[in-house]
Order: sequence, then structure tokens, then C-alpha cells
Amino acid sequence: MPLPITAGNTMSKHLNTQLNSQGAKEKVIPRSYPLERIRNIAIIAHIDAGKTTVTERVLYYTKRTYKIGEVHDGNAVMDWMAQERERGITITAAATSCFWNDHRINIIDTPGHIDFTAEVERCLRVLDGGVVVFDAVSGVEAQSEAVWRQANRYQVPRICFINKMDRIGANYERCLDMIAKRLGANALPLQLPLGAESEFRGVVDLLTSRALEFDDDPDVAPIEVPVPEEYKETVEEYRTALIEKLAEHDDAMLMKFLNSEEITAAEIATALRQVTIAGKGVPVLCGAAYRNKGVQPLLDAVVDYLPAPPDVPPVTAYDTKKEAEILLPASDDAPFAALAFKVVTDPFVGRLVYLRAYSGKIKGGSEVFNTARGKRERIGRLLIMHANHREEVSDADTGAIIASLGLKNTFTGDTLCTVARPLLLESINFPNPVISVAIEPRARADQDKIGEALQKLTEEDPTFKVSVNSETGQTVISGMGELHLDVIVSRLVTEFGVQARVGKPRVAYKETITTSASAEGRFVQQTGGRGQFGAVELEIEPGTPGEGFKFEDRTRGGAIPRQYIGPVEHGVREAMDTGVVAGYPMLDIVVRLVDGSYHEVDSSELAFKMAGSIGFKAAVQRAAPVLLEPVMKLAVITPQEFMGDIISDLNAKRGQIEFIETQGDLSSIRVQVPLAETFGYATSLRSMTQGRATHSMEFDRYEKVPQAMAEKIKVLGRDYA
Ligand code: GDP
Ligand code: MG
Repeated sequence: MPLPITAGNTMSKHLNTQLNSQGAKEKVIPRSYPLERIRNIAIIAHIDAGKTTVTERVLYYTKRTYKIGEVHDGNAVMDWMAQERERGITITAAATSCFWNDHRINIIDTPGHIDFTAEVERCLRVLDGGVVVFDAVSGVEAQSEAVWRQANRYQVPRICFINKMDRIGANYERCLDMIAKRLGANALPLQLPLGAESEFRGVVDLLTSRALEFDDDPDVAPIEVPVPEEYKETVEEYRTALIEKLAEHDDAMLMKFLNSEEITAAEIATALRQVTIAGKGVPVLCGAAYRNKGVQPLLDAVVDYLPAPPDVPPVTAYDTKKEAEILLPASDDAPFAALAFKVVTDPFVGRLVYLRAYSGKIKGGSEVFNTARGKRERIGRLLIMHANHREEVSDADTGAIIASLGLKNTFTGDTLCTVARPLLLESINFPNPVISVAIEPRARADQDKIGEALQKLTEEDPTFKVSVNSETGQTVISGMGELHLDVIVSRLVTEFGVQARVGKPRVAYKETITTSASAEGRFVQQTGGRGQFGAVELEIEPGTPGEGFKFEDRTRGGAIPRQYIGPVEHGVREAMDTGVVAGYPMLDIVVRLVDGSYHEVDSSELAFKMAGSIGFKAAVQRAAPVLLEPVMKLAVITPQEFMGDIISDLNAKRGQIEFIETQGDLSSIRVQVPLAETFGYATSLRSMTQGRATHSMEFDRYEKVPQAMAEKIKVLGRDYA
């Protein structure tokens, strides 16, 4: 498939020719777009808002030039269907790249479901801007609120697209109101819908006060029509309101506004761009993607108002040689640093590692340094993913969102840089799994296939883990919630053709200590021949939550020979795997080896490892050990009439209500509930509310299990199910 013909590509061909005429042998092309003409964006939305439909239209329109009056070849409908199908596969790709108005737009896919927080998290981490899609009937929904907050946390500038304006009950003004009230955003409408519901036919652009009508046929270009008389007053009102809002942040505009001077569309656009990039306002557009209406102006807005890589603040990196933090400018001349944010196995080309290059550039085929792992690796081919083809490029330049082949030991969150200049970017934080289920293939013959499939899925998803229970030999999968694991199991069927059977979900309890203590550990055996001797004295104390395990050697004067220190730590680590309360792994403990003794002949590594384990267990017994459980943040949105039932049910589930909010006749409840109490919540909520409530849930933290509960869990033991 040839590249679409745009000015940008003409330029890329030009560069390519130059390269070839200089004698270079590369067939691959260098970046054809200067940094200012790149947009790295995510399309984020509540499930069903129309993200896929919008993305499909984006891909469709960007494959050709956007010229008024251009009508495309022949049997357009059939054509369209075929491409649709083809795209059905490719839009699930992690990233895609397209061209619009001489800009390159890199789009990363995010799933709509909040249960895949991790996925949205990493996209927002590496992107410069976002398009948030809403359903014009339901407006701001629970998941849109959640992704909006995430985008706030990463300070990602965004544009809103109010989709489905053709639906019965579509209400643009209500959506604007919800964006302002629910999301606390400074909504800046740039358009008014032309017609409503089934009569929806286009938009009035408030910057130019011009109306555009769209045909149902995507191949018929939009046409400009006069603004209908009955709209003129509202258009003027909205336009003035927009200028007024922009004037709050733009002095030049304020002066003009106060002096009642004429303000041009270009002046409004300039101010809009600044306000949007600074995160002080959010442009809002509308359309009906399914009816092929309003998508081209959305693309224009992406180019006009969302930031290019140099428009966002420079990232901080840790220079491991200088042991100092440095700011990395978005420039090809700066030292190279890229963050691996996603690993997927592509059925056609193999293991793809997606990179966001923050500064500098690197050639395909060069050696890179993985700072986090301290390893050198060779980067293979570099690919830009398009809707339906891959484009090989010679370099990963600053600002690029690019896929690389050939990296074997690079995982999500790793930094790649040059060997000469090791830099470390802040990794992406993913929580540890909190729930697990045993899994086995329905057909024995699928044993190997399921193992391979699960392995691939763990590489893609940092919050999904696979382990084998050493006692039962069962394969156990772990993740962030019931739904997360459900989806994994159905992906096994759809993507890998393996039917699996799963057990009951289990909570990933942990154990820790609450006071400090010390104890001696002795391992002494004298049974003929050579004996065993190792003795240690350990002090333990609670560590900082989230820090895991720390081991310090404080012995003096060779109380224990050097070669036995490592084995002591090893013994302690092994003992931590099985806590003394109910056999769950222990975390957040500081262990100090303070003294010990040895025997010239009988001491061995094994003896000291045993002594370490014994000493640690004895100390834990004296340090008031407790059981910890994962606590989830749960959000429920329900018609008000069910509130009473939902709240009393949540109280019975040890829920702690954070807040309740009522808007119209819908109430939303935020509550913290132990994971153990949430199993099957989807089903019970459905029956409590006749299916009219929605909920979303995410892991929050580990907390001490109340005594009475802990007793029960202890009796059941580690493997209760
Ligand atoms: P996603 O979950 O956000 O990706 O949403 P989809 O793109 O899959 O859309 C969900 C449903 O809404 C599909 O049945 C679409 O056909 C439909 N849809 C999307 N856009 C529109 C629109 O503009 N108008 C109408 N009436 N339906 C739409
Ligand atoms: Mg979809």
C-alpha cells in the first residue's frame, strides 16, 4: 500500500532521494515531519461512546487528501466494507499513525474499561494530548470521569468530541454542562450542532461563523452552507462567550474584547491553542462518527490545538554516571532516551516493543543500553504502524511513537539510551496483582498451548502474572480484579484458541510485622561424620509500606565469615515466602544481621541459610505479625431509588463510604471495600437494581485484616478456595 499523497509525503520522498543520492543504501525513510508537525494523542472514552467508530473514520479520512468536491472511485460502499474489515484487525494495534494537513498524527489505542487502568495509565504517560469521546445522550459517564482524572494527573491537554449527535435524546448543551460540572473543566465549545437527532447534518464553526454540512457517504466531501437564520443569534452568543473565556487567559484578546474590536478566527485559534496546551481550557466539538459527520473538523482541531512534542515540558531523567537528575529537551541533538511502554506479540512480525523517544535519536540496528536492567541490546528494525501497513524508518527521532523489533530483554517501563550516556526515565508504576485463580485447559492436549499463550499475555500486561503452585502443580493466574481475569480467559479462546477452566478466585493476602523484635537462629547437627553448624542473631523491624524487603549486615570483627552472609540473606528471603500467620508471603520488613558464630570445620553455606530462616521465623513470632488484604476503590452509579439497598449491602461487606453524590435522579457512591467482599459483585448489583446500576472497581492498597476475619482465614489456611 503506497503512502497517502500529501505534501508531507512529497517531502519525505524528497528527503529519501537526497539520502540515496548521497550514496546511502537505506531503503527506509527518515522522519518526514519536523517535530512541530507531530501530534502524539490518545483517544479515550467510556466504553461504547464511539471510540472505535471515531478511530475508523479518522483512519479512513486520513488516507486521502481532504479536498472539497473530491468524489472517490466507483463502488465506494463495497470498498468501504472491505477496508472496514481489514481495519477491524489493525485498529486493535497499540498505535497507528496517519497524516492530516501536513502533520503526522500518532494515535495510541486505550481500552475504555477502567478495569484496565494500567493500560490507560501507560498511554497517558507517554502521550502529549488526548481526544475524549462522549455519547451525546448519556454525556459524562463513570469511566469518562475516571480517565479524565488520570489525564489530569499526567497533565495531558485534551479536546472533547461529543459523538452520536444523531441519536434520539442527544443533547449538546447538557453535555457541555456535564463536562463543566462533573469534570470541573473549562469547556470551550467551538461548534454548534446543525440540526438534531435524525436531522443532524453538520456543525456551525464558531470561530469563522460558517456552517458545514456532511453527507452520510464518507466519500462525499463536506460542503459549506449559509448559517440558517434561526441559528444566527445563538452563534453570536456562543462566539462571544468563547472569546470572553479566552480573554480571561489572554491579555491581547481581553483588550480587543473590551474595545469591541473585531477578533479574527486566527486570533481565536492562537489563544485556544495556548489555553488548551496550558491545561486551562478544553475545546469541545461535536458530530456523529457513525454517520460520517464532524470527524474532519475534529482532525483539524487535533492539529490546531493539541501540543507537539516540544510544546510539553521537558522530561526529567536520572543520569546514572553523574548521579544527578537532568532535564531532557525534546531535540534530536540531545542524548537519546526512550521509554518502552508496551510489548505486544504481533502475529505477523513477532515481538514488538513500543517506544516513546523523549529526546535524541537512534538508528535502527544500533546497540542500545537498557539502564534499568543494566544490559546492552541491539535494536532491530524500527516501524511506524499505520492503519493497514507498517512503514520502516531509519531512525527513532525525538517525539516518535515507534515500534521496534529485535529487543528481547526490554520490558514495559524500561529506559533505552546509548551505551555512552546511561539515563533512566521514571518508570511506569504498575500495581501488583491482588486476585488469583487456578486455570487449566479443558483439553489436556492444550497444556503447552495454554502455557505459551499465558506467557505472551504476561509480556503484554504488567499487571497480569502467571505462576505454578509448587504444592499442587496447578497453574495460577493473577490480576487486578475479577473482570481483568475474565477478559484474559476469553482472550485465550478468541486469540489463542484455547478453552480454559478456572477455579474460584482467591485473594492475594500478605503478611507483615507491626513491632520490632530480635531472635537467634541456630542450625546444629552432629550425626557422625561431618556436622553442621551455623548461628545468627537477627533484628527485624517494620519497613516502609511498598518498600518490600531490606537486608543489612551489621556484624563486626568477622563474627561470621563473609561467604556465609549471602546464604543468611537467602535463608531469610525463603522464609519470607511463607509467613507465620497463615502462610502468605511477607512484605515490608527490614532485617539486620547483628551477630553470629561459626565452626572451623562444621560450618557451611547450607547451615547458615538454615540458621537465617530459623532466626527470621523466630523473630517474626515476637514481632506481632498480621495478615494484610487488598482493599478496592469501588464506584457505583445508580438510580436513586436503589441507594438504600446498595449502601446497606456495602456496609455488610465492610465497605467504608467515601462520599455520595446525587445529580438529577442518579446517585454516585464511592466506597472502599476489601477485595474478598467484592467477588460476584457485578451479579449481585445487577439483581439489586434490575440491571440499572453500573460500577467500576480498582485496587487501592493493602490493609490489616480485622482480627475476627484473620482467625477465619488462618483456619482455612493458605490454599482455601
Ligand atoms: P467504543 O466502545 O467507544 O469503541 O464504541 P464503538 O465505536 O464500538 O461504538 C459503540 C456503538 O455505538 C456501536 O454500535 C456504534 O455503531 C455506535 N455509534 C458510534 N458512533 C455513533 C454515532 O455517531 N451515532 C450513532 N447513532 N451510533 C454510533
Ligand atoms: Mg470499541
